[in-house]
Amino acid sequence: MSAPPAPGRLIVLSGPSGVGKGSVMTQVRQRDLPLWASVSCTTRAPRPGERDGEHYFFIDEADFLDRIRSGQMLEHAHFAGRRYGTPRDAVQAHLDAGETVLLEIELDGARQVKAAMPEAFMVFLAPPSRTELQRRLLGRGTETAEQIDARLRAAEVEMAAAEEFDVVIVNNDLTEATDQLVDLILGHGETQTP
Ligand code: 5GP
Repeated sequence: MSAPPAPGRLIVLSGPSGVGKGSVMTQVRQRDLPLWASVSCTTRAPRPGERDGEHYFFIDEADFLDRIRSGQMLEHAHFAGRRYGTPRDAVQAHLDAGETVLLEIELDGARQVKAAMPEAFMVFLAPPSRTELQRRLLGRGTETAEQIDARLRAAEVEMAAAEEFDVVIVNNDLTEATDQLVDLILGHGETQTP
C-alpha cells in the first residue's frame, strides 16, 4: 500500500468586504488551478446569480446553530447581521488528500483558523483606499445604505489587522491581484512583512 499524501496547504484569503475577494475568487476558480476552494455556509439570502452549494450553502439560523453545536464549523462569524462559517469536514478531507485548500473569509474567522491551524498561510487583500472601497460597495448595488454602513464600519476595523497576516496584496487591479495570489498558491510568491 502506498503512503498517504503529505497534508495539503491551507491558504486563507481575508480582507474588508467589498475589497474584491469574491471577484478574485471567481478569477481563481476560472484558472483551473490545483486547489480546492471551500464553500461556506451562510444565513444571508442568495444574491442574483448565486447558486446553493456553489457560492455558498444557504441555510437558516437553526441549521447554522445546530452545526456550531455539533462541531461542524471550523470557524464561524457574524458579519453585517448574518452568520458565515466554514464546514470543517470538507476542509480536513481535502487537506488529508494532500490538496491546497483556499478559504475566503472575513477577519474574525481568519483569526479563528490561524489559532486552530497555525500553519495556515494568511493572505490579506487590501483596497487601494477607503474611498475606493466605499465606491465599490455603492457601485455593487446589492446592499441597502444601512448594510453598506455596517460593512464600512467592519472594514475600518479590518484594515488595521493587515499586519497580522503573512502577505498583503493591494487590489489595484483585479487581474494583477489574482496573479499575485496564484503565485502564492503555486508556491512562487515571496513572503513579505506588511
Ligand atoms: P458576502 O455576504 O459579501 O458574500 O460576504 C460577506 C463577508 O463574509 C465577506 O467578507 C466574506 O469573505 C465573508 N465570508 C464568507 N464566507 C465566510 C465564512 O465561511 N466564514 C467567515 N468568517 N467569513 C466568511
